[in-house]
Amino acid sequence: MTSKAILEAQQLLKRYAIEDPTEIPIEVLIQAQGAMYDERPMNGAEGRIIFGAKSASITVNSLITHTEKRRFVRAHELGHLSLHRGLQPYYRCDDSAFQDWSRSGSHESEANTFASELLMPSDLFRHEAVKQPFSTAYITELSRLFQTSLTSTAIRYSRLGPEPIAIFWSQHGIIQWCCHSEGFIARYLRKRKTAVHSDSIAYQFFQNGLFDLSCTSQMVLPDVWFDDRRVPKDLLFYEDCIPMPRLEATLSFVWSSGEFKS
Ligand SMILES: [Zn+2]
Repeated sequence: MTSKAILEAQQLLKRYAIEDPTEIPIEVLIQAQGAMYDERPMNGAEGRIIFGAKSASITVNSLITHTEKRRFVRAHELGHLSLHRGLQPYYRCDDSAFQDWSRSGSHESEANTFASELLMPSDLFRHEAVKQPFSTAYITELSRLFQTSLTSTAIRYSRLGPEPIAIFWSQHGIIQWCCHSEGFIARYLRKRKTAVHSDSIAYQFFQNGLFDLSCTSQMVLPDVWFDDRRVPKDLLFYEDCIPMPRLEATLSFVWSSGEFKS
């Protein structure tokens, strides 16, 4: 069933006859929807919406340096405006709000789903995602094409892309959240709040603090990232990751190589 957040985003695109969301600044949409828009330096929050009796005011942190991230934060606040009027007087959205993608009934998760559909409409994303085999470089390219954050693009790929992948977001050496494509071979990923495995690429980043380096994919055995007895123990997976220096975090990607350890 299509969620309310997705339907609202699709209706908004339709209402303003937007076929390519990169053609329109999101702050223009916010104002067209009757809210005031402002940018200023903020402490401990990326964006905020305050609801008035009839109007609303949205502020986005002007200290956000990545234009893709800033665009996603604007779309996220527009999500609150479209979905959550009358439910809370305000939303103050920090880093954790933008890592909340799957908690049932969570307003932050709904705002992220709305932003994702608004900036990366399903049909358009499916069309683009099949053009190259999966790689972290391709996720980066898609993120530039749709002008969206890396994390939201990666999650979009896991849901709509042609190749099944698993994603792990880890901070300070601990897995904070993970998700996988519907057809992914392993159903049970390593648990949240556990340490990244010492044989993973991600571990090397946390161990050495070298977040400024890029990495190349390498092969790993299933128990590095999965806790699923049904996956053959000698089946090899590829692992790659995108380091996130500001957050001391890694966005790891794991996908099946289809090969077995000889
Ligand atoms: Zn929020």
